[in-house]
Amino acid sequence: MFVQSTTEIGGAETVLMNALSASEELRRRSLVVTLGFGRGDLPLRLRRAGVEVVEVDGGRLRRPLKVASTVRRLRNLARERGVRIAIGNGTHPQVYVSLLSMGTAMRAVYILHAIYREPLWRNGTIDILALLAPCDLLLANSRASMAAVSRLRSRVRVKLLYPGVPLPEVSLAAAQQRRAELGAGRDEVLFGVFGRLQRWKGQDVFVEAAAQVAQRLEQARFVIVGGSVFGLEPDFDAELRARIGHLGLEPRFVLTGFRSDIPELMAACDVLCHTSRVSEPFGMVIVEAMAQGRPVIATEGGGPSEIIEDGIEGRLVPPGSPEHLARAMGELGRDPSLRRRMGDAGRAKARDAFSSSLMSERLLTYLEELR
Ligand code: UDP
Repeated sequence: MFVQSTTEIGGAETVLMNALSASEELRRRSLVVTLGFGRGDLPLRLRRAGVEVVEVDGGRLRRPLKVASTVRRLRNLARERGVRIAIGNGTHPQVYVSLLSMGTAMRAVYILHAIYREPLWRNGTIDILALLAPCDLLLANSRASMAAVSRLRSRVRVKLLYPGVPLPEVSLAAAQQRRAELGAGRDEVLFGVFGRLQRWKGQDVFVEAAAQVAQRLEQARFVIVGGSVFGLEPDFDAELRARIGHLGLEPRFVLTGFRSDIPELMAACDVLCHTSRVSEPFGMVIVEAMAQGRPVIATEGGGPSEIIEDGIEGRLVPPGSPEHLARAMGELGRDPSLRRRMGDAGRAKARDAFSSSLMSERLLTYLEELR
């Protein structure tokens, strides 16, 4: 039984969809309980993929009576369905999973999508609770997130589970149609940044770098794909638009808001940028772009440094530095053969090391070992 908080799509939700979509066995043996946060279409998308979903109105953790009744409901459901393993997809669901499994034969698994700060008190209350609560297995999404939890909770069994992506083949026609929609011609170079709009994701660094690239590369065009999710920082969008206007970049820039056709949009781009200001725990968008055969310029540290080898599938640049980002964008923007070489290397790596079928196989193996 996977427990999932929000219905809006971010990396953790994509991981869940990808794992279940890639394995018939995992789907057959699983159900997903969503706890009713957000207004996204995750339940719909999971059901479309053939996954059984039970929607529960979970309630906030600061309402203990509501939490107790949700845990009772989940426990009844688990008993009826003979659930042997409860899996929390992220910190908030993990608190429920822990409470749910306490005093039962059910095993608790925590899928971790974050890098814990050290010492422990520097993390949010829910993150601390999730990590201290009883857990039989913790699945970390990168070596960086694994190292931090291993230091903070040395007794917990931790395994590495790299997220995986499907490898959809986007038709040339679909990619060209998106490219036209984004206002980029055949001879132009389209740079894209994908992800939820939040300051730590650094889309503003992309805008500053774009201003420098635009001066040096006449053909450069730019797109930002993503919107505010989970109600976080809804004003950032307007801030970015104002800055783009101030820099006179409007004719070359498109902001699409949240989209569900990510593979097509990525295939429409020539170079993908990933601009997080702090160490990204993994970075799904990086492997999604690689799966589309696109080179990626990412900020070093955390997941990106484990995914990309500098100079092979893309470039690694220091976080928060428009100058370094602009230099790498210029280098790739001027050299189509370099883009092709890096894109091909990325596609091969996505297929060999970060496919969703590989992730599902590993997940099933880890869960089997628990029984
Ligand atoms: N995403 C999406 N639509 C958007 C922007 C992002 O579906 O408009 C997806 C993206 O394809 C990826 C996920 O959201 O699968 C973001 O995952 P990532 O690990 O990059 O970041 P997180 O949100 O987990 O910090």
